[in-house]
Amino acid sequence: MAPGWRKHENVMHASRHNGGSAFRRTVGGQLDVASLGTILGVWAHPDDDIFLSAGLMAAAVRNGQRVVDVTATRGEGGSMDEERWPPGSMGEVRTGELLRSLELLGVQEHRFLEGPVDIDMETPLDEAGAAQVRAIVEQVQPDTILTFGPDGMTGHEAHKDVSRWATDAFEAVGRPGSRLCYATQKPAFVREVVPQLERFNIFKPGSPPETAEDELAIDFVCDEALLALKTKSLEAHESQIEGLLEVFGEEGLQRFLRDESYRDSGRRPGGEA
Ligand SMILES: [Zn+2]
Repeated sequence: MAPGWRKHENVMHASRHNGGSAFRRTVGGQLDVASLGTILGVWAHPDDDIFLSAGLMAAAVRNGQRVVDVTATRGEGGSMDEERWPPGSMGEVRTGELLRSLELLGVQEHRFLEGPVDIDMETPLDEAGAAQVRAIVEQVQPDTILTFGPDGMTGHEAHKDVSRWATDAFEAVGRPGSRLCYATQKPAFVREVVPQLERFNIFKPGSPPETAEDELAIDFVCDEALLALKTKSLEAHESQIEGLLEVFGEEGLQRFLRDESYRDSGRRPGGEA
């Protein structure tokens, strides 16, 4: 359905020095989302996918591309106010929030894994997730896998686990010619936004990762309509987003949400010679 970037050998060679990116750009220089083909996202918590890939997912769906979104846990450990959000109900609350937000984006294929449960930032996930991610990669045969880098973006152990699972699956059963991309941030985000987020304890010391703009494999900037949709979908995560909204307001929040940046993992799929 979507023309694959594999057909454009010249583009592939021309951009190989550019962070290894084989994704096409439009005449205006923006990423051509169609060149990502079938997209599989592999994430740890409901809302990881929204923060890092809502714009890409919505744009791909609009193009008629297949988008499969996987979340390892239901965010069971994510209560920020135990009176309003009793810890025992968090999994259910956050499942509902995620499904509402994906509906807004038009993403129709979503899967939770069986076994992994979110405890806290330091606790690794049940390894039962690894085989499930591998089976999904085998079934879906994505052209592009989006996930965390080994750094886990925020330093969360669960983020590092899903990164490893996706990487192992890609190397074992990934389709030849497909790409594995790791979420990262632009230097401006690290310089300007991260200090403002300090009080929220989102990023552990040493995080997030930073990649120069000319080394990004995917440098996607949401246009105004997409940014509005992404914001709305994030606001469906009421239990998570209230504090951020209170401090920054919707407009302030949008400064964090506009860019979706990925670097090439440097890995190659198992089926490739
Ligand atoms: Zn997370």
